[in-house]
Amino acid sequence: MANPNQEIKYTQLFINNQFVGAKSGKTFGTINPSTGKQIIDVAEGDAADVDAAVQAAKQAFARSSPWRQMDGSARGKLLHKLADLIERDINVLANLESLDNGKTFGDAVFDMNCAIDTFRYYAGWTDKVHGSTVPSDGPVMTYIRKEPVGVVGQIIPWNYPVLMLTWKWAPALAVGCTLVLKPAEQTPLTALYMAALSKEAGFPDGVINVVNGFGPTVGAAIVNHPDIRKVAFTGSVETGRLITEGSSKSNLKRVSLELGGKSPLVIFDDVNVDEAVEIAHNAIFANHGQNCCAGSRTFVHERIYDTFVTKAAQMAKSRKVGDPFADGTQQGPQIDEEQLNKIMGYIESAQKEGAKLQAGGKRSGNVGYFIEPTVFSDVTDEMTIAREEIFGPVQSILKFSTLDEVIERANKTEYGLASGVLTNNINNALVFANAIEAGSVWVNCYDYVMPTTPFGGYKQSGHGRELGYCGIELYTETKTVTIKLPTKV
Ligand code: ADP
Repeated sequence: MANPNQEIKYTQLFINNQFVGAKSGKTFGTINPSTGKQIIDVAEGDAADVDAAVQAAKQAFARSSPWRQMDGSARGKLLHKLADLIERDINVLANLESLDNGKTFGDAVFDMNCAIDTFRYYAGWTDKVHGSTVPSDGPVMTYIRKEPVGVVGQIIPWNYPVLMLTWKWAPALAVGCTLVLKPAEQTPLTALYMAALSKEAGFPDGVINVVNGFGPTVGAAIVNHPDIRKVAFTGSVETGRLITEGSSKSNLKRVSLELGGKSPLVIFDDVNVDEAVEIAHNAIFANHGQNCCAGSRTFVHERIYDTFVTKAAQMAKSRKVGDPFADGTQQGPQIDEEQLNKIMGYIESAQKEGAKLQAGGKRSGNVGYFIEPTVFSDVTDEMTIAREEIFGPVQSILKFSTLDEVIERANKTEYGLASGVLTNNINNALVFANAIEAGSVWVNCYDYVMPTTPFGGYKQSGHGRELGYCGIELYTETKTVTIKLPTKV
């Protein structure tokens, strides 16, 4: 099953249902984060390739094209077929994902299953997105249509390559958009494999296009393109700003953004401490901490604080770090050297600012980008690790006394992606759920994301919601049709 020597079949750009080299002939190496060594060269697109992809997507969106003429139910069958093909090739995809991203093979399989569920969920929407008729004043009849926005650009990060692609592709295709996707430069391999599967599933020419390359070239060309009507982005706040600016300076294309987070997980003293420690551990260490909704501020009630810290440190010390393809590994490498250095910088800052190191704190091994699961106690709100997104395996444990206090402190951030509360007191849970400024609130669990439920952020964690019916809304325009009736009928 797990196979680090998985054959790599696709390394070119995918435009108009064909794999093609970049017009410039350029390539770039994708790196294995477990070794720091290059896996393979992939084609490096730039603005000219983006333009070719957009022209293909535009043609595929033309009024008389096979895609526009296709019934919604037929689009649903294509999405189901794509889900079936992911299921057939789940090991291939999971191997490529582990190799390119460093996540454990088990986690990669989990991601693929989530992708399958998401494609199937949106397959169900294809013939159910309908408008309405509305009561009108005067002798008119009015109805509302929901229509695809057109050619969309989609820019995704490296932490969940197939899953982020799926969150973007599935709703866009369900409603009949055509698309140009840019995978992250760190993880191009699975997007290309997904492109091949989409062709096998039978999506018409030009509906799905994948252009690999870098943010300032391919990403910026998508953001500035005059024929792209919407950009969906997941990534950093800084890039989110550039995208908003690019939209404003080009054609005011619609923008949806899912950005970073500094999500609080609040733990009251009425819980089972062992269970709470485990939930908090998984909330921060899942996917090596490279998770925009990671529970990266663990607020623990003062009455259980010391016990919690001891147990949290024990659990972090027992987390198995190593080869993502080996049985039993829980944590692989960070994505690249830049992230590794950034995370090590945060660990250093925490020690300088007075947080107490309870576990980890060092690189793990000399090869690849591994970091020991790290736990800090005595973290205060002002410390850098309590304010900035680390995106790594670093747990910050803060102490609190009252509900009001913790709500105020939890909300004292410009981020607002997710949050959690662990308590057996319904009043604490509901007051917290209502007061927290975050797009997701998990009560007595964490990171419970389903295809059916909207996901996205308050404040600078972005705008727009993916998944659920909200995903459909991101990719549709609303049209009002008003028809004058004869005065006398
Ligand atoms: P991260 O820090 O997680 O890598 P980024 O926001 O830098 O987050 O990257 C997320 C995605 O955005 C990647 O696909 C990256 O190539 C792309 N990107 C980076 N810079 C730009 C840009 N200026 N314009 C458009 N896309 C960009």
